[in-house]
Amino acid sequence: MTPARLIREAAERLERAGVPDARVDASLLLAHVTGRQALALRLDTDTALTAAELAAFEALCARRMAREPLQYLFREQPFYGRSFQVNPSVLIPRPETERLCELALERLRGFSGTSGASGPAVLDLCCGSGCIAVTVALELPGAEVTAADLSPDALAVARGNAERLGAKVTFAQGNLFAAVGEQRFDAILSNPPYIPSADCDTLQAEVRREPRMALDGGADGLVFYRRIAEAAPAHLRPHGLLMMEIGIREEEQVAALCREAGLQGVRVHPDWNGIPRVVEASL
Ligand code: GLN
Repeated sequence: MTPARLIREAAERLERAGVPDARVDASLLLAHVTGRQALALRLDTDTALTAAELAAFEALCARRMAREPLQYLFREQPFYGRSFQVNPSVLIPRPETERLCELALERLRGFSGTSGASGPAVLDLCCGSGCIAVTVALELPGAEVTAADLSPDALAVARGNAERLGAKVTFAQGNLFAAVGEQRFDAILSNPPYIPSADCDTLQAEVRREPRMALDGGADGLVFYRRIAEAAPAHLRPHGLLMMEIGIREEEQVAALCREAGLQGVRVHPDWNGIPRVVEASL
């Protein structure tokens, strides 16, 4: 069996299982197994694959046909130029969240401390894989970054990412702010679960493989924003920044929640598709 033929056959099977971009995925799976380039494999009508390669490829194909996301099969996802390890205990980091990091870093680079420390104290609430916390810690070396999550399994992934990437991050387990007691921060960043509960069951099959607790934002999708906005003033230092990623058409309501909580300078920023995606406010 040559790579070109195997990819063609596997792509048909993946397609029948409803996998979008079946041919691309078949090539990437074989690239993962062989360590060769996907495009070279597609064009290779000569080389015979070994029995071990075929077996490993078949195992991955079966999982992909069951609609496991490629990122869980490969156990990694690039984010802000670095590779993060992921598993089904954490949400797969998205480009929209890179936008949140970019905006937060823009604000925090100009930070002049109120705490006497060299950089800002930053909290990543609902840290999941730790992509936000680790990115901020590495991009702003003076920052004191804390990452909190309810899920011990997610925290284990985040801790592993911080260690592997050499980021200094403090981790805390608990339900939102309960994880950090009375602590105050110069910035609170969060990409909380924001999909309305009823929509969670109709998501794309791959997204339904991600942790429900990382997706489900309660009946109206806004449960976490309500709780975060309400509690934020008690956890922000003077002029502290709150920045949250939001779901589709949530901008007005989340902006209103921030204002009701007494926060100022509320602004909404679009993502790279022009969709309102990040709400910013400050104390
Ligand atoms: N902060 C993580 C991310 O942005 C996890 C978010 C979540 O679990 N809702 O990917």
